[in-house]
Amino acid sequence: MSIACKIKTVKSNIEKAQSNSPDSAPKVCLVAVTKTLGLEPIQEAYDAGVRDFGENRVQEILEKYPHLPSDIRWHLIGHLQTNKVKYIVDKIFMIHSLDSLHLAEEIEKRAAAIDRVIPCLVQVNIADEDTKFGLKEGEVEDFLKAMPRFSHIRIEGLMTIGPHVSDESRIRDVFHQLRGMSQNMSKLALPNVRMRELSMGMSGDYMTAVEEGSTMVRVGTSIFGPRF
Ligand SMILES: *Cc1c(COP(=O)(O)O)cnc(C)c1O
Repeated sequence: MSIACKIKTVKSNIEKAQSNSPDSAPKVCLVAVTKTLGLEPIQEAYDAGVRDFGENRVQEILEKYPHLPSDIRWHLIGHLQTNKVKYIVDKIFMIHSLDSLHLAEEIEKRAAAIDRVIPCLVQVNIADEDTKFGLKEGEVEDFLKAMPRFSHIRIEGLMTIGPHVSDESRIRDVFHQLRGMSQNMSKLALPNVRMRELSMGMSGDYMTAVEEGSTMVRVGTSIFGPRF
């Protein structure tokens, strides 16, 4: 199946799941995850209409960025090292992996220098697996309360990675919890903090995620095939 065909399939699966979404008029952004891929498949997905692309390494964005259309919206979905912020602050559309004050301070500094406000999602480690990244559930509120002083960061919502288990109900539960947290956090009504986006769902679980209210799914394998 061609990349264009697979995108169609993923989009139609998203639509099906949307009819079960808890939101009345759900919008779901498909972020095509292109880590490890060369330019050709990315261009193919672009030609099929995709404009949002996700990478988990700064280096890969830097390599690909100059060779691809300038209206691509690049999403950084993987862990961001503080010392790399300066390379991408002018290129990135959204950072999905904000998970420390130290990182927020650096984003603020670099964004202020170029007079940009960077949309960010706070990564939450609900599954609490072996992954070392993401805030613990209990840390999120205090973290968000520290955000208003960063005038060049706008928090747009939360992100999580579902647990690597086969039990769908456990995955669903994690997504459900993230949505509940987002609703609670929006009640804080903090300046510079909006809870509009929920970045959750990958190839194995994006339909479940959309059914639980995801607004951004990060899909690689289901569009481009397995990575080697
Ligand atoms: C690689 C990756 C994805 C996409 O994973 P697939 O299973 O290939 O769809 C999504 N989110 C993050 C954070 C990733 O690193």
